[in-house]
Amino acid sequence: MIYFDYASTTPLSKEVLKTYTYILEHYYANSDSMHDIGLKVNELMEQSREQIGSLLQVSSEDIIFTSGASESNNTFIKGVAFAYQHKGKHLITSAAEHSSVYECMKELEHVFGFEVTYLKVNEKGIVEPEELRKALRSDTILVSIMALNNEVGSVFPIEEYASIVHENSRAFFHSDCTQILGKMPIPLKKLDGASFSAHKIFGCKGSGLLYRRSSIQLVPLINGGQQERGARGGTSNAPCNIVLAKTLRLAMEEMNEHTAHVTRLNHILRKELAEIDEIVINSPSDASPYILNFSCMCMTSEILLNAFNEHQIYVSARSTCSSKTRKPSRVLTSMGIDERRANRAIRVSLSHLNSEDEIKTFIKVLKEIMNEYRIKS
Ligand code: PMP
Repeated sequence: MIYFDYASTTPLSKEVLKTYTYILEHYYANSDSMHDIGLKVNELMEQSREQIGSLLQVSSEDIIFTSGASESNNTFIKGVAFAYQHKGKHLITSAAEHSSVYECMKELEHVFGFEVTYLKVNEKGIVEPEELRKALRSDTILVSIMALNNEVGSVFPIEEYASIVHENSRAFFHSDCTQILGKMPIPLKKLDGASFSAHKIFGCKGSGLLYRRSSIQLVPLINGGQQERGARGGTSNAPCNIVLAKTLRLAMEEMNEHTAHVTRLNHILRKELAEIDEIVINSPSDASPYILNFSCMCMTSEILLNAFNEHQIYVSARSTCSSKTRKPSRVLTSMGIDERRANRAIRVSLSHLNSEDEIKTFIKVLKEIMNEYRIKS
């Protein structure tokens, strides 16, 4: 089998799994219990927070453990919106966000009476910095724009966005950094909030982080206790939280080597795809090498995805969290791609575990599928 769906999720690293099972077995106490074994779990969790803070070069006080990036996005966006609504009810985001940001904004708009500006992305899949500057208002309290798009791999200039927001308004700047973690350096200190997920970097599912500059108030989504300094109630998922430091350390230590390998694979894939008639590449030329989106104009995404599946080649048609909708991708249409081409899009997402041979097999199978389809239709 060939797995080309790493942007959806990654397998658990063997090293992380070993530590995780050891912790599950030996450190099962509640991290809030006041006896020795509870205190020990708490100590390990705080050590992990410290290590994560130093790996990300921010204070450990700014780190909140969550169940993943969807929760981190919701916690920051709704938390800030509710805490600062007396200062204004205008929010800004992009049309290309992951559904956990986009739907969160929709809810704030439709249920809680906020006004949201959805900035379009250009043909390269990013928000023009000037468009952001023009959209800022005196009642804007929050801007949330992602760092790396999960469907096409476009890399957003988040440091520039943060400066524009801070220089021209009183708003906070948050970024969904799920897909950039372990792939490129993140200018975290310049941001007010950022969301991360462990299962995109060979860590546990149901585990993630929110970076929140600790001076920023949040109304918690989950009331219930003192955990995470009141920002998130509920018994801590201590084993996942403890092992996240190791997961992150491994991802960051190996980042340059992995990226060099994936860049090489991406170049081969791009070159081969460009030579096939009826294939159009949707990812911009300067996209992250980890994600390559293309359309095969002779068949819909669903048909091609299923045909690949028959050959045990696993790809996505769009963001996995929106995979059950039949509407064309919001990201692709926002980039100006027409509906027909958007409905024929396939996302290949790579990792260091992929090989050149897999790329060659993928291209060979793609050509076979296209030939068979032409004969049948
Ligand atoms: N944001 C982006 C950009 C993502 O790709 C994903 C995962 N599909 C998420 C948020 C949600 O992450 P999680 O699965 O950890 O909730």
